[in-house]
Amino acid sequence: MGENMFDSFFSVVKKRFNGNNDDDSRETVKCPRCQSPVLLQKYEELHRVCPDCNYHGRLSSSERIEITFDEGSFAELDGNLISRNPIDFPEYPEKQEELRKNTGLNDAVVTGTAMIKGIKTVAGIMDSRYMMGSMGSVVGEKITRAFEYAVENQLPVILFTASGGARMQEGIVSLMQMAKTAGAVKRHSDAGGLYITVLTDPTTGGVTASFASLGDIIIAEPKVLIGFAGRRVIESTIRQRLPEDFQLAEFMQEHGFVDIIVERKKMRSTLSHLLKIHGYGEA
Ligand SMILES: [Zn+2]
Repeated sequence: MGENMFDSFFSVVKKRFNGNNDDDSRETVKCPRCQSPVLLQKYEELHRVCPDCNYHGRLSSSERIEITFDEGSFAELDGNLISRNPIDFPEYPEKQEELRKNTGLNDAVVTGTAMIKGIKTVAGIMDSRYMMGSMGSVVGEKITRAFEYAVENQLPVILFTASGGARMQEGIVSLMQMAKTAGAVKRHSDAGGLYITVLTDPTTGGVTASFASLGDIIIAEPKVLIGFAGRRVIESTIRQRLPEDFQLAEFMQEHGFVDIIVERKKMRSTLSHLLKIHGYGEA
């Protein structure tokens, strides 16, 4: 995997706040939610949770796998799928080539089987470092195949979402993935499978409008952004100012779009508990 530990936002802020200080232990990052400066070391120890406002920052897919699933249990599915350039979008192949090199990923979602406290699941983890976690043909196909695998093997599905929405570089092919993934979720549901979504920062656009919102149980991490269109687009369309907490996880829970908000440190135990009470993991 690539060693690009920070998303671009944090690396920019880090430089700005750090100035010429080359002492690593005193480096600070600025929380994108409450703007407080936070010691980088402390932030990393907390797995990128802001100690002031409890905003849950972005993790790479490999970091997420490491803190969520049983050690060494993740076995990737369809890792070699690579998207073409269906609408001949200029410089799209070059951009992907570069991202593959920098992130070690082949697209914006990693899927596979994994255990949580000994319970086997099908897992999908989106990675915002790859084209803002946007959904094109490969993301849609991998999610769909993950559900099909789960149906065949009678497994529950857990998806960690993080996305800027549909991938415009693949045009209508990206939009089609919304219906395709939603159909796969339905077939898994009809077969009696449990599907849990964990919405992480940010979950927006066509991903919110398809599989992210279709979980039997919808979990969100604290203070993360969840929505369809962005704040500025909505404000300029309806010509009204939106509330401060609009599209944050807590607002979405209050309005019925999220079932529970779970802190990162409790995610693993919460997921295993939910699996158990739905009858998974019993001999
Ligand atoms: Zn904060």
